This record gives sequence, C-alpha cells and structure tokens, in this order.
Amino acid sequence: MADTNVDIVVIGGGIVGLSTAMHLTSLMPHQRLLVVEKEEAVARHQSGHNSGVIHSGIYYKPGSLKARLCVEGAAAMVQFCREHSLPYQICGKVIVATSEAESQRLEGLLQRGQANGVSGVKLLDQTQLRDIEPHCGGVRGLHVPGTGITDYGAVCRKYVELITKHGGQVRTGTAVTAMMARAGEIVVETSGGAFSARYIVNCAGLQSDRVTSMSGQKPQVMIVPFRGEYYDLVREREHLVKALIYPVPDPQFPFLGVHFTRRISGGVDAGPNAVLAFKREGYQRTDFSMRDMATTLSYPGFWRMAAKFWRYGASEFYRSLRKQQFVAALQKLVPEITDSDLVADGSGVRAQALRRDGSLVDDFQFAETANMLHMWNVPSPAATASLPIGRMIAQMAAKSFGSY
Ligand SMILES: Cc1cc2nc3c(=O)[nH]c(=O)nc-3n(C[C@H](O)[C@H](O)[C@H](O)COP(=O)(O)OP(=O)(O)OC[C@H]3O[C@@H](n4cnc5c(N)ncnc54)[C@H](O)[C@@H]3O)c2cc1C
Repeated sequence: MADTNVDIVVIGGGIVGLSTAMHLTSLMPHQRLLVVEKEEAVARHQSGHNSGVIHSGIYYKPGSLKARLCVEGAAAMVQFCREHSLPYQICGKVIVATSEAESQRLEGLLQRGQANGVSGVKLLDQTQLRDIEPHCGGVRGLHVPGTGITDYGAVCRKYVELITKHGGQVRTGTAVTAMMARAGEIVVETSGGAFSARYIVNCAGLQSDRVTSMSGQKPQVMIVPFRGEYYDLVREREHLVKALIYPVPDPQFPFLGVHFTRRISGGVDAGPNAVLAFKREGYQRTDFSMRDMATTLSYPGFWRMAAKFWRYGASEFYRSLRKQQFVAALQKLVPEITDSDLVADGSGVRAQALRRDGSLVDDFQFAETANMLHMWNVPSPAATASLPIGRMIAQMAAKSFGSY
C-alpha cells in the first residue's frame, strides 16, 4: 500500500535527474512530480565529483548524441549560469601533441570539432602554443577557445530551487529499495515510505542498472565504476597552468587522459586517471564491496573487456599506486612539473555502461519501457549537456506519459 500518490517519480538527484525534473515541471506543470535521492543532499556522486569543465564538443563522433547535446549544452550551460548568477568562466583549452603521431591525430580532432560546429578551433605551432600556455611542452597544439569551467554542484542546487519553485518536490535521504508494477501504477518502495506513481524516470547514475532490475526489467548493460583520482597543484606552482591543458586522447579508450584543469573556485587540478573501482561509490583506493565486485566479475562482458584492455587497465593501476608515473604523464604536458608540486586531492567515480559482448557504450544511451525511462549511459560530457539531455528525456517521458 503506497503512503503517497504522485504522477512521476525521478530516481536520482544528480545533474541528469534534476535537469529532467526541472524540464518536466515546466512541460507538465499540473502533474505531481517527486525526485528521490538516497543521499542526504543532491550531487553527492558524479555530479559533485567531476572536473567542472564545460566541454565544447570537439571529441565526439559527428552525429552522435554526445556531439549534438554537448555543443548545444555548452551554450545552454553558459546562458544558464549567466541568467542565474552562477560562477563560470570561458577560459579556453589547449590539447597538446607530444609526438608526430599525436600531431596527426590533432588534425582529426580539428575536423571533428568543425563537423560538430565547435567554433574558433585552431591548430597551433609550438610558438603559438607557448603564447597561450607558456610552460607547456609538446610539438603542436589545438586551441579550443570556447571551453569553460563552472561548479556543477551549484548548478544542481539551482535546478532544485527551480523544481520546487515550479511545484515539484525533491526528497533527499530517500533510497529506492524496490518497485512493484500494478495496473496503471508502479509502487516505489523507499527508505522513506512507499510512493505510487504512473511514470518513473531512472537517473540513478552508478546504480542505474540495478534500479532497472528492481523494476523487473532486464538491463542490457552493466555499470562498471571507473575511479578518477586527482592531485592538486601546490599554490606556488599554479602559475604553470593558465587554463586547461589536455593530452591528445587515445581513440581506443573512452577517457581523456590525465590533464590540468583550473577550478572555478581557485586552484589547479591534475587528473583524473581511470582505474577500475572495487566499489561503485568507492572514492578511496582501499574501498571494496563484495556485492559490487561479485556483480562485475560475474558479468561475461567484463571478462571480454578485460581481455581486450588488460594492458591499459594494468598501467592505470600502476599509475594509481606510483605517483611518479602520474607525474611522468603530466610532465609530457608541462615539463617543469615535479613530484613535490602535487598533493593528493579527491576523486570521482564514473558510471560507464558495458555491454555483454565486452564493448563499452560510447554514446549516451537511454532505454524506454512501457511506463519507465532508464538512463543507462550518461558519462562525460553529461554535466555540460545536462540541460538538453533533461529536456530530451522530459519530452520522451511526456510523450509516453500522455499515452497512459
Ligand atoms: C571524475 C569525473 C570527472 C568528470 N568531469 C566532467 C566534466 O568536466 N564535464 C562534464 O560535462 N562531465 C564530467 N563528468 C561527467 C559528469 O559528472 C556525469 O556525466 C554526470 O554528473 C552524471 O550525472 P547523473 O545525474 O547521471 O549521475 P549522478 O550524479 O551520479 O547521480 C545519480 C544519483 O542517483 C542517486 N541514486 C542511486 N541509486 C539510488 C536509489 N536506489 N535511490 C535513490 N537515489 C539513488 C545517487 O545517490 C546519485 O546522487 C565527470 C565525471 C567524473 C566521475
């Protein structure tokens, strides 16, 4: 028996769930909407543990959702921050090639950026690169002037404010534990009582496959957690980085490689790496969950992925354990960096969807069933793209909801 009746429940108070809820409150203002978040505050996982970069959309395959929604989302995010007096800065970034092979890949990135409609992207020779980032190494660069930085935690809190202003409710400290479908309704059991809803949107990030299973559906992917560890550049050496300095990404892997990022709140981060985490919400190297590991190891796709990427995985582990390896990767970008310039900082855990065949899902992936929508793959640049993602999901939900 449900304690409360609502029309729509959004599960997850991260940036994707909150943006979806915000768009739903304006698309369907007369429907009762509830966001449930298991932590005591919103943005406690990926949305509050990221690099804070407003990506420009240069990396993604032309025509993909990532490419389209990132370019659109970056402009929308800047506009949103401006309108609501949230901190942001368009500081630009350089992508640095350190070899002839990487230099050729820069040209591919330039073409992608142009195909995706990213404006102002320009190849740089060594002198031009040093004019922008005087301490940068490398033989050639790509300048992406529209890249920016913000505080996505603050963006999430603003989304909450707008949801409540438009009549929606956000309940934190409320974990969804089970779901039961009945005729025309779904009963959502939570740590704070049961809710009956007509439609559910699952934006549970690192737990989204499990939330799908709770609903009686079979997720077509498994979430693999990849921890990204950061170092902080000591204050006296912050001058070595003016804005954002990135390596040329290896197209085989979904991560960008360790880089330097200026924070909107001040300071410079170095990282993140990408290490397989032994716990889905495990921010420390020693965090371990038997349940999470059993889920990972019993999934056939994991072993297929491991067979393909074991060398990359092992080197990321080694780099996680040996600071000198981390420093060496950063020295390729800024040769003056030394071990003593870096102090260990926090970390974030990425939710990456993996298929049974061992392939990593590259693009954003949503799945729709009769009265539910599931976000299965919304990794970076989903914070940047959160406004158009939320709008798109809300439109899909409104369309399906209308037919119930
Ligand atoms: C290290 C790192 C760096 C990144 N850098 C950038 C960047 O610079 N720019 C960018 O655009 N993107 C970046 N990203 C990606 C971006 O942060 C994520 O794509 C985005 O935050 C995903 O949002 P989300 O709402 O899907 O997930 P989350 O923020 O993880 O939210 C999911 C929420 O669901 C809740 N939840 C889970 N299970 C339940 C349950 N059973 N009941 C109730 N609630 C539940 C969780 O507590 C959580 O709050 C980065 C990510 C990481 C990890």
